[in-house]
Amino acid sequence: MRNLSGLERQFLPRAGDLVVQPGELEDPIGDLVHSPEFRFVHRYPDRLLVLTTDRCFRYCRFCFRKHWTGRGLARFEEEDRQRLGSYLDQHPEVHEVILSGGDALTLPNAQLIPLLQIIRDRKRLVRLSTRLASLHPQRLDSELLSALERLGGIWWLHHVNHPDEIHEGFRSVVRDLFRAGVGQVSQSVLLADINDDPEILLELFGLLAGRGVKPYYLFYTDLAAGTSGWRLDLEDALDIWRRLKERASRLVLPTFAVDLPGGRGKVEVEANLLRIIEEGWVFQAPDGSEVLYPRAGVLKRVRKT
Ligand code: SF4
Repeated sequence: MRNLSGLERQFLPRAGDLVVQPGELEDPIGDLVHSPEFRFVHRYPDRLLVLTTDRCFRYCRFCFRKHWTGRGLARFEEEDRQRLGSYLDQHPEVHEVILSGGDALTLPNAQLIPLLQIIRDRKRLVRLSTRLASLHPQRLDSELLSALERLGGIWWLHHVNHPDEIHEGFRSVVRDLFRAGVGQVSQSVLLADINDDPEILLELFGLLAGRGVKPYYLFYTDLAAGTSGWRLDLEDALDIWRRLKERASRLVLPTFAVDLPGGRGKVEVEANLLRIIEEGWVFQAPDGSEVLYPRAGVLKRVRKT
C-alpha cells in the first residue's frame, strides 16, 4: 500500500474507534449544557457559537462533535437566520459569532452569504471555523470572496493538523483571503501518530506563520466517544508541548488548551493543571472550581525522544 499523507491518515478508521472508554462522552465539551436554543451554543457571554450545518467536507475520525455531524441538518434557512438576528438583538453582550457545525463552508453561497450578512448588519465579528483550505480549496469561489471583502469583520479559522495539508490549494486560499481583507488564524488538534512530535508541529506552525496565518490554538484531544486511539496521555502531550516551547517564539506558538468535560470551559493546559492523580488530571476551571479530566480513554502511551 502506498504511503498515506498526514492528511489522509486523519480519516482512516482505527481499531479503538468503536470502543467507548469509561470517561468518554457523547457531548464532550458540553454543547448541550450551554444551548439556549436549537443550533445555538452560548458558553461564554461575549461569544455565540452557531451550529450552521451538520455536514463536513470529510469526517475526522477524532471529531469532538459526533453527536451533531452527519444527522441530516445540512441547511441554514431564512427561519434560522431570523432566529439568529433576534437572538443577537436580545443579547448585546455577544460581540462575536462563531460559525461552526459541521463546517459552515459546506453551505451553498445562497445560505452562507445571507447568514454572514445578518451578523455583520449587527456589527458583530464573525469567526469561520473550517477545513476548506485543506480539503476543498476550490470551494472558495469569487462570489464568496467578494462577499467576504464587502462585509468585512470576518476572521477565518483554519482547522489544520499536519504540514501535508499546506499544499498549493491551501496556500492559494490563504492568499485570496488576505487579498479580500480576511484575518486568518489556525487551530490544530494534538493527535497520536499524526502530529505527536515537536518537529512536525514546529514545521506546521512555521508554514502557517510564514504565510501570515497566526497559529492560535493547539487542542488536547477531547473526550469524545471512540477517540481513545487518537489521544495521547496528557503527560506525554505536555512533554511535547514543553519541547516545542523551547524552540519557538510566541509568533509561531499557539496556545495549548483543553476543553474541560461537561462544558466547564476552555483553559490553558500548563497554567491550569493543578495536580496529577491516579484517576487523571485535575484542572482549575475558569470559574475557579476543580475539574477532573479522567485518565480513562487513553489507550496508548506514546513517548518520542
Ligand atoms: S471538520 Fe470539525 S466538525 Fe467536521 S468532522 Fe472534523 S472535527 Fe468534526
